[in-house]
Amino acid sequence: MDTVTPDEEFIKNPQIPGPTKEEIRCLVMCKSQVSSDDIVADVGCGTGGLTVEFAKRAKKVYAIDKNPEALNTTFKNLQKHELEDRVDLIEADGTEVLDSLPPFNVLMVGGSGGKMDFILKKGYEKLKSGGRIVVTSILLETPLESIKVMKDLGMEVEVVGVSISKGRISERGTMMVAKNPITIVSAKKF
Ligand code: SAH
Repeated sequence: MDTVTPDEEFIKNPQIPGPTKEEIRCLVMCKSQVSSDDIVADVGCGTGGLTVEFAKRAKKVYAIDKNPEALNTTFKNLQKHELEDRVDLIEADGTEVLDSLPPFNVLMVGGSGGKMDFILKKGYEKLKSGGRIVVTSILLETPLESIKVMKDLGMEVEVVGVSISKGRISERGTMMVAKNPITIVSAKKF
Protein backbone atom coordinates (compact mmCIF):
# COMPACT_ATOMS: atom_id res chain seq x y z
CA MET A 1 0.00 0.00 0.00
CA ASP A 2 1.17 3.56 -0.68
CA THR A 3 2.52 5.54 2.22
CA VAL A 4 0.24 7.94 4.08
CA THR A 5 1.12 11.64 3.90
CA PRO A 6 2.22 13.17 7.25
CA ASP A 7 -0.12 15.83 8.70
CA GLU A 8 2.51 18.57 8.45
CA GLU A 9 2.77 18.14 4.68
CA PHE A 10 -0.74 19.51 4.12
CA ILE A 11 -1.47 23.15 3.34
CA LYS A 12 -4.05 24.23 5.92
CA ASN A 13 -6.77 26.85 5.79
CA PRO A 14 -7.98 28.12 9.20
CA GLN A 15 -11.54 28.32 7.85
CA ILE A 16 -11.68 24.73 6.64
CA PRO A 17 -11.74 21.56 8.78
CA GLY A 18 -9.07 18.93 8.16
CA PRO A 19 -6.91 17.36 7.15
CA THR A 20 -8.17 14.17 8.75
CA LYS A 21 -5.29 13.06 11.00
CA GLU A 22 -2.72 10.69 9.57
CA GLU A 23 -3.67 7.71 11.75
CA ILE A 24 -7.35 8.10 10.87
CA ARG A 25 -6.49 8.38 7.18
CA CYS A 26 -4.70 5.01 7.48
CA LEU A 27 -7.83 3.41 8.90
CA VAL A 28 -10.11 4.99 6.30
CA MET A 29 -7.92 3.65 3.47
CA CYS A 30 -8.08 0.23 5.11
CA LYS A 31 -11.87 0.25 5.62
CA SER A 32 -12.56 1.61 2.12
CA GLN A 33 -10.42 -1.19 0.61
CA VAL A 34 -9.60 1.28 -2.18
CA SER A 35 -7.55 -0.09 -5.06
CA SER A 36 -6.16 1.07 -8.40
CA ASP A 37 -9.26 0.35 -10.54
CA ASP A 38 -11.63 2.17 -8.20
CA ILE A 39 -13.72 5.28 -8.68
CA VAL A 40 -14.24 7.24 -5.47
CA ALA A 41 -16.81 9.90 -4.53
CA ASP A 42 -15.50 11.98 -1.60
CA VAL A 43 -18.39 14.04 -0.21
CA GLY A 44 -17.19 16.91 2.01
CA CYS A 45 -13.56 16.92 0.89
CA GLY A 46 -12.63 19.82 3.23
CA THR A 47 -8.84 20.30 3.19
CA GLY A 48 -8.38 17.29 0.93
CA GLY A 49 -6.74 15.06 3.53
CA LEU A 50 -8.64 11.99 2.42
CA THR A 51 -8.85 13.13 -1.22
CA VAL A 52 -5.03 13.05 -1.43
CA GLU A 53 -4.94 9.51 -0.03
CA PHE A 54 -7.67 8.26 -2.38
CA ALA A 55 -6.01 9.97 -5.36
CA LYS A 56 -2.76 8.07 -4.66
CA ARG A 57 -4.59 4.74 -4.74
CA ALA A 58 -7.65 5.01 -7.03
CA LYS A 59 -8.21 5.48 -10.76
CA LYS A 60 -10.44 8.53 -10.35
CA VAL A 61 -11.74 10.65 -7.48
CA TYR A 62 -14.70 13.04 -7.46
CA ALA A 63 -14.04 15.51 -4.62
CA ILE A 64 -17.24 17.30 -3.64
CA ASP A 65 -17.75 20.20 -1.26
CA LYS A 66 -20.41 22.89 -0.95
CA ASN A 67 -17.77 25.40 0.19
CA PRO A 68 -15.62 26.81 -2.65
CA GLU A 69 -12.82 27.61 -0.17
CA ALA A 70 -12.63 23.90 0.72
CA LEU A 71 -12.24 22.98 -2.96
CA ASN A 72 -9.53 25.62 -3.29
CA THR A 73 -7.61 24.15 -0.37
CA THR A 74 -8.10 20.59 -1.64
CA PHE A 75 -6.78 21.65 -5.05
CA LYS A 76 -3.66 23.19 -3.49
CA ASN A 77 -2.96 19.98 -1.61
CA LEU A 78 -3.48 17.86 -4.72
CA GLN A 79 -1.11 20.11 -6.67
CA LYS A 80 1.48 19.94 -3.91
CA HIS A 81 1.43 16.15 -4.16
CA GLU A 82 1.10 16.11 -7.99
CA LEU A 83 -2.24 14.31 -7.89
CA GLU A 84 -4.59 16.85 -9.46
CA ASP A 85 -4.92 14.89 -12.75
CA ARG A 86 -6.78 12.07 -11.01
CA VAL A 87 -9.37 14.28 -9.30
CA ASP A 88 -12.46 16.20 -10.47
CA LEU A 89 -13.37 18.98 -8.03
CA ILE A 90 -17.09 19.64 -7.82
CA GLU A 91 -18.63 22.58 -5.98
CA ALA A 92 -22.02 21.26 -4.91
CA ASP A 93 -24.04 19.91 -2.05
CA GLY A 94 -23.58 16.15 -1.82
CA THR A 95 -27.34 15.73 -2.05
CA GLU A 96 -27.44 17.29 -5.52
CA VAL A 97 -24.50 15.81 -7.33
CA LEU A 98 -24.37 12.05 -6.73
CA ASP A 99 -27.05 11.41 -9.39
CA SER A 100 -24.90 12.93 -12.12
CA LEU A 101 -21.72 10.94 -11.34
CA PRO A 102 -20.83 7.64 -13.01
CA PRO A 103 -21.17 4.58 -10.74
CA PHE A 104 -18.42 4.44 -8.11
CA ASN A 105 -16.72 1.80 -5.93
CA VAL A 106 -16.23 3.91 -2.81
CA LEU A 107 -18.47 6.53 -1.24
CA MET A 108 -16.64 8.55 1.41
CA VAL A 109 -18.70 10.93 3.53
CA GLY A 110 -16.64 13.36 5.63
CA GLY A 111 -19.35 16.02 5.90
CA SER A 112 -23.09 15.84 5.39
CA GLY A 113 -24.56 19.02 6.88
CA GLY A 114 -27.41 17.07 8.49
CA LYS A 115 -28.35 15.35 5.21
CA MET A 116 -26.70 11.98 5.84
CA ASP A 117 -29.88 10.01 5.19
CA PHE A 118 -30.27 11.45 1.70
CA ILE A 119 -26.55 11.25 0.80
CA LEU A 120 -26.29 7.60 1.84
CA LYS A 121 -29.46 6.55 0.00
CA LYS A 122 -28.48 8.38 -3.21
CA GLY A 123 -24.91 7.11 -2.86
CA TYR A 124 -26.06 3.53 -2.39
CA GLU A 125 -27.98 3.69 -5.70
CA LYS A 126 -24.78 4.73 -7.50
CA LEU A 127 -22.48 2.35 -5.63
CA LYS A 128 -21.29 -0.62 -7.71
CA SER A 129 -21.90 -4.05 -6.25
CA GLY A 130 -18.96 -4.91 -3.97
CA GLY A 131 -18.58 -1.16 -3.34
CA ARG A 132 -17.94 0.32 0.10
CA ILE A 133 -19.30 3.28 2.04
CA VAL A 134 -17.19 4.94 4.74
CA VAL A 135 -18.43 7.68 7.09
CA THR A 136 -16.14 9.49 9.56
CA SER A 137 -17.49 11.75 12.27
CA ILE A 138 -16.61 13.60 15.46
CA LEU A 139 -20.31 13.83 16.39
CA LEU A 140 -22.21 10.99 18.05
CA GLU A 141 -25.41 11.54 16.09
CA THR A 142 -23.80 11.04 12.66
CA PRO A 143 -22.70 7.41 13.19
CA LEU A 144 -26.05 6.53 14.79
CA GLU A 145 -27.94 7.85 11.80
CA SER A 146 -25.50 6.25 9.35
CA ILE A 147 -25.83 2.84 11.01
CA LYS A 148 -29.62 3.01 10.79
CA VAL A 149 -29.67 4.03 7.12
CA MET A 150 -27.06 1.44 6.11
CA LYS A 151 -28.92 -1.31 7.98
CA ASP A 152 -32.20 -0.31 6.31
CA LEU A 153 -30.40 -0.58 2.97
CA GLY A 154 -29.55 -4.18 3.89
CA MET A 155 -25.84 -3.55 4.37
CA GLU A 156 -23.62 -5.26 6.93
CA VAL A 157 -22.27 -2.42 9.04
CA GLU A 158 -18.98 -2.12 10.92
CA VAL A 159 -18.43 0.57 13.54
CA VAL A 160 -14.99 1.49 14.87
CA GLY A 161 -14.33 4.06 17.59
CA VAL A 162 -10.86 5.51 17.44
CA SER A 163 -9.17 7.38 20.28
CA ILE A 164 -5.64 8.39 19.43
CA SER A 165 -3.10 9.95 21.74
CA LYS A 166 0.24 11.23 20.55
CA GLY A 167 3.36 11.50 22.64
CA ARG A 168 4.66 14.99 23.32
CA ILE A 169 8.31 14.40 24.09
CA SER A 170 10.11 16.80 26.41
CA GLU A 171 13.14 16.70 28.71
CA ARG A 172 10.91 15.60 31.60
CA GLY A 173 9.41 12.70 29.70
CA THR A 174 6.70 11.89 27.18
CA MET A 175 3.21 13.18 27.78
CA MET A 176 0.39 11.50 25.88
CA VAL A 177 -1.94 14.13 24.42
CA ALA A 178 -5.42 12.93 23.39
CA LYS A 179 -6.96 13.74 20.01
CA ASN A 180 -10.72 13.96 19.50
CA PRO A 181 -12.32 10.52 19.36
CA ILE A 182 -13.59 9.67 15.88
CA THR A 183 -16.15 7.10 14.81
CA ILE A 184 -15.74 5.30 11.49
CA VAL A 185 -18.83 3.56 10.10
CA SER A 186 -18.32 1.40 7.04
CA ALA A 187 -20.32 -1.08 5.00
CA LYS A 188 -20.18 -3.08 1.80
CA LYS A 189 -22.82 -3.41 -0.92
CA PHE A 190 -23.40 -7.00 -1.94
N1 SAH B 1 -12.10 14.71 5.19
C1 SAH B 1 -11.69 16.09 5.08
C2 SAH B 1 -12.34 17.00 6.11
C3 SAH B 1 -13.83 17.10 5.96
S1 SAH B 1 -14.52 18.51 6.74
C4 SAH B 1 -10.16 16.17 5.13
O1 SAH B 1 -9.50 15.17 5.43
O2 SAH B 1 -9.62 17.24 4.84
C5 SAH B 1 -16.17 18.45 6.24
C6 SAH B 1 -16.47 19.18 4.92
O3 SAH B 1 -17.77 18.76 4.55
C7 SAH B 1 -16.52 20.71 5.03
O4 SAH B 1 -15.59 21.28 4.14
C8 SAH B 1 -17.97 21.07 4.63
O5 SAH B 1 -18.07 22.23 3.79
C9 SAH B 1 -18.38 19.83 3.84
N2 SAH B 1 -19.83 19.54 3.81
C10 SAH B 1 -20.70 19.45 4.86
N3 SAH B 1 -21.94 19.12 4.43
C11 SAH B 1 -21.85 18.97 3.07
C12 SAH B 1 -22.79 18.62 2.05
N4 SAH B 1 -24.08 18.35 2.34
N5 SAH B 1 -22.37 18.58 0.77
C13 SAH B 1 -21.08 18.86 0.46
N6 SAH B 1 -20.14 19.20 1.37
C14 SAH B 1 -20.52 19.24 2.67
